[in-house]
Amino acid sequence: VTETALPPGFPLPDLSEPLTSAFWLAAARDALALPYCRTCARFRWYPKPVCPGCGTDDLPWREVPGTGRLFSWTVVHHAFLPAFAGQLPFVAALVTLDAAPGVRLPTRIVDAAPAELTVGAPVEVCFAPLSYPGVPGEVRAPFFRLRPRTDRSPA
Ligand SMILES: [Zn+2]
Repeated sequence: VTETALPPGFPLPDLSEPLTSAFWLAAARDALALPYCRTCARFRWYPKPVCPGCGTDDLPWREVPGTGRLFSWTVVHHAFLPAFAGQLPFVAALVTLDAAPGVRLPTRIVDAAPAELTVGAPVEVCFAPLSYPGVPGEVRAPFFRLRPRTDRSPA
């Protein structure tokens, strides 16, 4: 991919993309929202034109509480695009959401050292502006951070 092939504003999310714009509009007011299939009675991720379970295109977005668990992650040390160089290292992760079984949301884990991360660790959403040097503008985005474990004895 050459730089001229990249959409304007890349790597910021494209807010005009119909399949995902509701996700970013929710994030702009610090809410996490996902497409929900009323027929299948479950959230669907990632956003598609039709439900992969039943084929309906009636997939209204619903807000969900931002608590979940760390499913998997990797620590990114190499910037494959120059725009990411100033953010290294960062933790790219998949989280599961308590209110949306079956969904694994790609995100970043913030405010945690990689050594603190464990499979199944409780996480919660937090919101912050996403921006890149040399790219105009910013987009408010959901990130996740570790929640204190309730099963941990007080120190
Ligand atoms: Zn469905």
